[in-house]
Amino acid sequence: MALTALEIYKLLPKTNCRECGFSTCLAFAMQIAAGKAGIDQCPPASDEARETLGAAAAPPLPKVTVGTGERAVILGDEVVLYRHEKTFYHPTAFAISVSDALDEDAFGERIRRIRALSFERMGETLAVDMVAVRCESGNAARFSRAALAAKEGAGLPLLLSGPCEALAAALPSLGSDRPLLSPSSGEGEAGARLAAPLGLPLVVRAKGIDGLAGALTAARAAGARDLVADPMPASLSEAVAMSVYLRRLAILARAREIACPTAFDLGNGFPFPFAAASLLVPKYGSLLVLDSDDPADLFPLLTLRQNIFTDPQKPIQVEAGIYPVGNPTPSSPVLITTNFSLTYFTVRSDIEASRVPARLLVADCDGMSVLTAWAAGKFSGESIAKILSGSGIAGAVSHRTLILPGMVARLSGKIEELSGWRILVGPQESSAIPAYLRRLPPAAFAPADV
Ligand code: SF4
Repeated sequence: MALTALEIYKLLPKTNCRECGFSTCLAFAMQIAAGKAGIDQCPPASDEARETLGAAAAPPLPKVTVGTGERAVILGDEVVLYRHEKTFYHPTAFAISVSDALDEDAFGERIRRIRALSFERMGETLAVDMVAVRCESGNAARFSRAALAAKEGAGLPLLLSGPCEALAAALPSLGSDRPLLSPSSGEGEAGARLAAPLGLPLVVRAKGIDGLAGALTAARAAGARDLVADPMPASLSEAVAMSVYLRRLAILARAREIACPTAFDLGNGFPFPFAAASLLVPKYGSLLVLDSDDPADLFPLLTLRQNIFTDPQKPIQVEAGIYPVGNPTPSSPVLITTNFSLTYFTVRSDIEASRVPARLLVADCDGMSVLTAWAAGKFSGESIAKILSGSGIAGAVSHRTLILPGMVARLSGKIEELSGWRILVGPQESSAIPAYLRRLPPAAFAPADV
């Protein structure tokens, strides 16, 4: 369990020497307990204190890195059970499988489709993370060639799945890329001996908590360190139950012997794979392997992942400013909204759907939506009047008419009074913007007498 500030204080020298940058040892202990400082900042600390506090400060769920460079995937390294307690750091990774039994053309097409699984949403790129190369040919040399082709074709970290003989054949050309090894059932210890000298991450597969605990211990005894646990569920409910159980053991019970990121193979005929995936994204699946390369299957899962792994304390924002939509002229409409990404992209896409060129003014409201910002006093008559005078919009258009979100219609009078701009109250819902803009008469944006 995590140590309290008082327990940490008892391990410190208690000399208040201030070398750590804090005025007292107790103040420093409180910072360590809050996770904002480390024992390395206290030069006079004893070896016992360093050992005890170093172990206590290690994340309850170890970090396992697969791949190298920019596309490296980090599994685990989480510290809380519920997102609102702090945040989740490392999103569930998706690996799409490819079989080495495919002929060359089909293999190449499969890799091309995997590489194309990339989408833009709310200003972020959503994409699958890994390729899982399955050895289904029974031929180690063929598997080795397929793994290399997958690496070169997709440019993503690999999960190599198959008998140890096939994995060993692929490693000379791939070992430095840190693939995740997933040996066939019954080859766990041989897989550990393969992974250990190269320091490669390894999937440890066993049924149930006791089975996993034994298999993880055996893998560690063989020298493997970066371990990922696959509890081999047979059904959706078993997968979710095991995932939750393993995460609770890691975070609440600090059961270090079984604390590992998890991997679930939802391909190979696993029942209801997408329902299982949609439950395992919020419920602690670290790596999910899927057989589908259909964008219609993957986009909803990637969207769900984006929503779950957004830091609740840091709303996704866009920069405040003037955004042209289409090719607006000086007489095109001007709309305003806030800089919460979801709001911005929704309003923008609805303006685009109208096919009416326009300018969208985006107000800096700390990433809040329109109503939240209004309630917090950040989207007010005063702040909007200030944007109209200070953003440069007056120089970009020949009129002085602003379309205000319908939800804050009550701000109209104040804005007109402070800015001299005429306010048109827009729709309550963004989805009504296309019809609203198409209905507006051109005279609504006649040149202003300024
Ligand atoms: Fe106490 Fe160590 Fe900080 Fe000195 S450096 S005040 S001994 S915690």
